[in-house]
Amino acid sequence: MAASMASQAAARGLRTAASKHLLLDKLKCTWSSPRRWLNLQEYQSKKLMQESGVAVQRFYVADSASEALEAAKRLNAKEIVLKAQILAGGRGKGVFDSGLKGGVHLTKDPAVVGELANKMLGFNLTTKQTPKDGVKVKTVMVAEALDITRETYFAILMDRACNGPVMVGSPQGGMDIEEVAASSPELIFKEVIDIFEGVQDVQALRMAANLGFKGPLQRQAADQIKRLYDLFLKVDATQVEVNPLGETPEGQVVCFDAKISFDDNAEFRQKAVFAMDDMTESDPTETAAAKWDLKYIGLDGNIACFVNGAGLAMATCDIIDLHGGKPANFLDLGGGVQERQVYEAFKLLTADPKVEAILVNIFGGIVNCAIIANGITKACRELELKVPLVVRLEGTNVHEAKRILTESGLPITAAENLDDAAKKAVAAIHK
Ligand code: ADP
Ligand code: MG
Repeated sequence: MAASMASQAAARGLRTAASKHLLLDKLKCTWSSPRRWLNLQEYQSKKLMQESGVAVQRFYVADSASEALEAAKRLNAKEIVLKAQILAGGRGKGVFDSGLKGGVHLTKDPAVVGELANKMLGFNLTTKQTPKDGVKVKTVMVAEALDITRETYFAILMDRACNGPVMVGSPQGGMDIEEVAASSPELIFKEVIDIFEGVQDVQALRMAANLGFKGPLQRQAADQIKRLYDLFLKVDATQVEVNPLGETPEGQVVCFDAKISFDDNAEFRQKAVFAMDDMTESDPTETAAAKWDLKYIGLDGNIACFVNGAGLAMATCDIIDLHGGKPANFLDLGGGVQERQVYEAFKLLTADPKVEAILVNIFGGIVNCAIIANGITKACRELELKVPLVVRLEGTNVHEAKRILTESGLPITAAENLDDAAKKAVAAIHK
């Protein structure tokens, strides 16, 4: 579970370099549906929490320094917290390219909020969960700050191993939770929820006690836990994470941060939630690919992979790597692919200036290889393909497909098998 927590945390704001670990996380999050996973900013998640009676502080959102200053004055709070809104965690310890340290700032003086917002808005914030150049901050949240005596971690997530939802909590939440999960797994508590029965009082109270809430706070925390579970069900979430779930000196249990992940398959019945989708941080190529039901993930190499099936796509990336090359992307055409999608996929790949060669690796099971071959020849002609193209086709109607490619007269390198294809693609780059 510790590893799962760490990977869940890493899955926040996955616009990071293509390390294998992150790639797998990313796939896990996105594979089941052609639509990209839904991302909401903290303020949007907190709005949903408020609607479910979960305790969050009063807040406003602003996209200019003057608006932030106004909001700070309007809040009329003893202390104010200004939080950069990006789809990644670790903001507290992040750094802006304006030089400002910390994506979360506390102040008692509303006048300072404008200056701080000025150093946040329009600048890139880099955290351990963002790409190394960070993510541009377009919105800030101006919220009432409260003293926190203790920070705990609490999450509800769908766990394959338990065939359903699981509560995970730690009395040592806050900004170092990944480290707690790695070095003190005994401080991570787990409670399996029966999907038919829901969270039982005894379970909520036990979790609250494990989180270290004492006396009347225990019941309050248990109540928050139950409300968070109601929200989890109501919005078809796959994960609701609150870190920190904090305790104040006045004896309140408050959710100070919020991250909700949603089941993309529930889009049809969660229209209001999905309408909030914040695509501003999405990779434009990934978004364009999703429109054509193509699963695309950008990587940092120079050999474009054009594959059908996640397993074959991973094998293709691996074998390119084995031959000393680097994949430029991970593109899965899926099963029922049509000629138009092949064309659109080529358009995406060729538009990427990093791409120096294209490797097509298709196994025609459901897919008819002739459809792929027609799509490829059409794309090559219309897009005036300038980079070497290596094609390996196998399976349904492969003879017809090979005939189409050969008779096209296009400079396409045929490969016998996956190994041969990868070798030829790597060699084409070094020519
Ligand atoms: P991230 O997880 O991205 O670093 P958080 O929202 O968890 O961002 O904020 C980081 C830290 O800032 C929290 O662990 C908490 O200590 C502090 N903090 C956040 N919101 C508040 C608040 N409303 N009042 C007081 N402190 C806060
Ligand atoms: Mg946090």
